[in-house]
Amino acid sequence: MAAIGRFQKGDDIFYAKVVDGEIFRLQGDVFGSPSFEKKATPLKGVKTLVPIVPSKIIAVGLNYADHARETGKTLPKEPLFWLKATTSLIPDGAKIEIPFANHRNDFEAELGIVIGRRVRNVTPAAAARYIFGYTAAQDITDRTIQNGESQWARAKSFDTFTPLGPYVETKIDPHDLSIQLFQNGQLRQNGNTSQLIFNCFHLVSFISVNMTLLPGDVILTGTPSGVGPIDSADRLEVRIQGMAPLVNTVK
Ligand code: MG
Repeated sequence: MAAIGRFQKGDDIFYAKVVDGEIFRLQGDVFGSPSFEKKATPLKGVKTLVPIVPSKIIAVGLNYADHARETGKTLPKEPLFWLKATTSLIPDGAKIEIPFANHRNDFEAELGIVIGRRVRNVTPAAAARYIFGYTAAQDITDRTIQNGESQWARAKSFDTFTPLGPYVETKIDPHDLSIQLFQNGQLRQNGNTSQLIFNCFHLVSFISVNMTLLPGDVILTGTPSGVGPIDSADRLEVRIQGMAPLVNTVK
């Protein structure tokens, strides 16, 4: 497999492999050993959906030292995580809606891990075999609410606050990828996943000690420095090396 997406044509919702602007429908279980139709369908004419359907989204905070520094917070000794509502997900191309225009709302580009097999209590060394792939995401945050509370679920779980996709890359090394965010074409965040304090395998292991992870579950791995406020009509683009860009506009 390579880039796997989820698509809709009429009432028909299906997974497919994406190759050079064409898609090849997947047959069988996406998390099993699927095969693909030989006949291509043009990507034009189908709607791109959020590429997976998670039972939960786990978001990790302060996982890049330079971002922790810019927030004035101290580095956590263990991964710091919280749950984001799955109803906050939107696909590539969908609009981010800001509920409180008088609040500060920030973009946060993040690498997302997608779980492929049910897993509990796994070691970091064994974690890779439970990972389906990786995707681009944003952890949009109402910073005004976040700064007034010690729990972050509310500030980060508004509908549309988790753009994710467009696809899941199943064949990629997650630990040396440039990760950038462009706001209206201007480079705002420019990091590399090699700077993650707790890497993807460590995160899957740590979280799996706490809760069973199911196929499709998403772990957002934290954002590099450069976070900033978003404005109405902004065009936000997350570019992660080796992946299609994730582009969303602000309503
Ligand atoms: Mg974040």
